[in-house]
Amino acid sequence: MTTTMSRRHRVVVIGSGFGGLFAAKRLRRANVDVTLISRTTHHLFQPLLYQVATGILSEGEIAPSTREILKRQENVQTLLGDVSAIDVNARTVTSEAGGVRTVTAYDSLIVAAGATTSYFGNDDFATYAPGLKSIDDALELRGRILSAFEFAELEQDERIRDEWQTFVVVGAGATGVEMAGQISELSHRTLRNDFRAIDPRRSRIVLVDALDDVLGSFGSKLSNSAAHQLEKLGVDVWLSEKVVEVDERGITVEDKSGLRTRIQSRTVVWAAGVKGSDLANSLAAQTGAELDRGNRIKVQGDCTLPGHPEVYVIGDMMSLKGYPGVAQVAMQQGKYAADQIKRHIGGKARAEDFHYFDKGSMATISRFKAVASIGDRLRFGGVIAWFLWLVIHVLYLVGFKNRVTTVLHWAVSFLGRGRSQRTTTNQQLVGRNAVRAAQLPDNADPALAERDERTERDQAADRPQPAAKG
Ligand SMILES: Cc1cc2nc3c(=O)[nH]c(=O)nc-3n(C[C@H](O)[C@H](O)[C@H](O)COP(=O)(O)OP(=O)(O)OC[C@H]3O[C@@H](n4cnc5c(N)ncnc54)[C@H](O)[C@@H]3O)c2cc1C
Repeated sequence: MTTTMSRRHRVVVIGSGFGGLFAAKRLRRANVDVTLISRTTHHLFQPLLYQVATGILSEGEIAPSTREILKRQENVQTLLGDVSAIDVNARTVTSEAGGVRTVTAYDSLIVAAGATTSYFGNDDFATYAPGLKSIDDALELRGRILSAFEFAELEQDERIRDEWQTFVVVGAGATGVEMAGQISELSHRTLRNDFRAIDPRRSRIVLVDALDDVLGSFGSKLSNSAAHQLEKLGVDVWLSEKVVEVDERGITVEDKSGLRTRIQSRTVVWAAGVKGSDLANSLAAQTGAELDRGNRIKVQGDCTLPGHPEVYVIGDMMSLKGYPGVAQVAMQQGKYAADQIKRHIGGKARAEDFHYFDKGSMATISRFKAVASIGDRLRFGGVIAWFLWLVIHVLYLVGFKNRVTTVLHWAVSFLGRGRSQRTTTNQQLVGRNAVRAAQLPDNADPALAERDERTERDQAADRPQPAAKG
């Protein structure tokens, strides 16, 4: 496919996340043609992914169609495509979807391709410990978590039943804390009367981090408060423990003295790290911009790349003045980049460098429990922080319908004990690893082969042995 040539200034936006969507929307009245290219057809509200993973919300509520959001904005064309190449000299973006290769020319480019899960060089951990970055991840985790209770109910061997009823969350940042809190609520409230052979309230939830604090970025007062609230929920918090092994039946952690401890668990959630999109590598190689340790590209003060004032890189895949990887930075940079483009086509001088306005940060721990940090001084936890969190998240959800159904589902889960989204499918459970194996040459995935072999061995060992004839 070739795109039609336009006489207007052509802006290409890569990504339909917070940065890309806010940039495209800001260009609504500008005299430009915008092409928004993304590998997903939705705009994903990542802060609520953990609620999809734990059956509170449906995926549609947090991932509205980008095409629908932008349907009234006539200067935008939305294209599905995985961007495989950006040529900053030819000023083209190459993307692929459904076997169709599309080359789109630009005059200005906004790259907002976000970040992916980082296993800190241990990519084999991914087989057994999914991250939480996409709808696929959330649905797989929902399948794994809810199935763990089902498998525990079936299991006769107490040792294996305990493994099914042990949940490990790696990473004590906001996502890890939210996941651990919600798995605890599932066990203690939602599922407590649903099983006959097992008692879901006996489940063990372990939150592990290599660092010394829970929610370290919130400061020591809120960090201690969060750790205390988690303990009250029955979550085991293991700090200063680095994960050194992950396999199908658990993880091994190592403390600072080198002492290793094994935690047997069939469900491990990886919420420990992110790294900038691979597109950062190609842009760095072409422009001489540096990459930081998190594979984020170092941008100039105006979010552009050296020697390329027409290329903006924003959001989670860029590094600037230590700004955090949060939605507000991406949204503010999206608007900033769009405004700079408008100034450029209007013949005005560039505005001053980008400055992030920090509106504060929040994390929920469970029902009625949250922490909030606003400005340098205002830090508080508990019910007020939790209500504030609810209001702000509803306001930022895109789409009126989504807001209404989200509030209804929250009422079901937080006022009652139910979860409206407990459906899981086998495809969600096996899909990611099946796709991964299919993409490898001759389907050889050593981790999967090893897992299959080990499962067979375990099953043979677990099978009752025939009684000796006497
Ligand atoms: C579980 C979780 C919880 C979070 N909670 C919070 C929170 O409570 N508060 C907060 O402020 N922030 C939170 N964040 C961080 C926040 O979501 C990110 O900072 C924000 O999404 C970054 O926006 P972005 O536009 O840079 O990237 P993203 O929103 O990740 O968007 C990236 C876009 O690029 C597309 N894309 C990627 N690669 C390609 C490619 N090669 N070709 C085409 N398209 C591509 C993706 O499909 C996506 O549309 C959370 C993140 C996660 C994962």
